Amino acid sequence: MTLTRSSGTNWSGNHRYRAAETLLPTDLDELAAAVSAADSLRVQATRHTFTDVGDTDGSLISLENLPARIEVDGERVRVEGLVTFAQLAPVLEAEGRALHNLGSLPHISVAGAAATGTHGSGTRNGNLSSAVTALEIMDAAGDHHFVHGEHPWFPAAALGLGAFGVMTAVELRTVPTYTVTAEAYTGVAWDDIVADPRRLFASAYSVSVFTTWGDPAHDLVWVKTTDADPEAGYVTDLGGRPIGDDLHLGRIRTVGNTTERGTPGPWHTRLPHFRAEALPSDGDEIQSEYFVPLDAAADALAAVRAVASDIDPVLLVTELRTVAADDLWLSPAYRRDVLAIHFTWRNDNAGVAAVLPAIEAALAPFDARPHWGKAFTMPGETIRATLPHVEDFLAAARETDPRGVFRNAFLERTLGL
Ligand SMILES: Cc1cc2nc3c(=O)[nH]c(=O)nc-3n(C[C@H](O)[C@H](O)[C@H](O)COP(=O)(O)OP(=O)(O)OC[C@H]3O[C@@H](n4cnc5c(N)ncnc54)[C@H](O)[C@@H]3O)c2cc1C
Repeated sequence: MTLTRSSGTNWSGNHRYRAAETLLPTDLDELAAAVSAADSLRVQATRHTFTDVGDTDGSLISLENLPARIEVDGERVRVEGLVTFAQLAPVLEAEGRALHNLGSLPHISVAGAAATGTHGSGTRNGNLSSAVTALEIMDAAGDHHFVHGEHPWFPAAALGLGAFGVMTAVELRTVPTYTVTAEAYTGVAWDDIVADPRRLFASAYSVSVFTTWGDPAHDLVWVKTTDADPEAGYVTDLGGRPIGDDLHLGRIRTVGNTTERGTPGPWHTRLPHFRAEALPSDGDEIQSEYFVPLDAAADALAAVRAVASDIDPVLLVTELRTVAADDLWLSPAYRRDVLAIHFTWRNDNAGVAAVLPAIEAALAPFDARPHWGKAFTMPGETIRATLPHVEDFLAAARETDPRGVFRNAFLERTLGL
């Protein structure tokens, strides 16, 4: 009989799972038996989402007791079960390989990151779903599917919000390992940041801007250069000075949990903002993020700044990043390079829900798409209008999961699935 535990809460504690239990299969046969017996099921991975995207009125299932093999094969790596980037990165590094990018923290699961379009920064760097080359999916009948790049479901399932079944393994594209040097600069004027956002964000391999939309002391540009492209000249030309040890991310004062700055190191020790062995970010928080075309960045930033006083009471910090265009149907970067406008909020569900509509109204003229794993209040029809292939996605999900076992209230509300 499959073990169970209580479903608990997400990482930040702002969402208590409705599901009565989390099933803990120990092998693929047990997983298949649990899946085929279920009316409603969602996978619970490392729980770093902020909404009910991964919840259900039925049961959750975790892959934590399944084997978590990592197999590096030439330019690809295949990871099984509940592998995190913190586990994957050193294995890749030992083989002289790397991922093209990482999110701000390595604590999250590879499958969960792919499912929601998790991203880092860089005008030439796609999100982590864009590194997926194949998926192994168990459908609601317990049958296995190898969904490779040419498979008709691929553009839907590679960023599939868990709607296609249980991803038992994910295969990713890797690149030769590389060295990254990070530095965080203070002293860059906001007017210079918004004067030419594309130039600023393209000035190094990965560029993030932190702000609280008013206090210049909180404006920070975190630049990550590679050994192949070591220049951070544009930021210093704009007057940027390394911030030194007193690093704060807006109203979050860091506590020795950030990755090293000022010295070169392997990609996975510098690309995330937070160290694998420490608590990332603030911990007691909610996050939201919206994606607008990079070409509209200056206007979109002006629109958000106009509502800054409304959002200020619940804001800890905003981070601005970029994501390169991809071809995945639900991707916030589908066929457009985007500016990602992120908000780390105080852990106050009602307070956050009250301010989100002002941001969403400000960004509506830019066809903003939300981050699937973070809090938003946009109506489903508004989101669907920004996604040209949403009907194709829905058709593929219905064909794959005719019993609707992997559907949930979130998918119904946002996509009409
Ligand atoms: C401190 C912090 C920092 C963050 N930084 C970033 C960042 O830099 N960039 C960014 O884009 N996001 C960031 N996020 C958001 C987060 O990384 C994503 O939302 C990601 O989806 C979390 O993955 P998870 O496995 O932890 O989440 P979960 O909630 O466990 O899973 C996410 C979704 O994937 C589905 N899923 C997971 N595994 C499987 C599987 N094997 N098969 C089928 N479905 C599956 C789940 O059902 C759920 O719907 C951050 C979050 C936190 C808490």
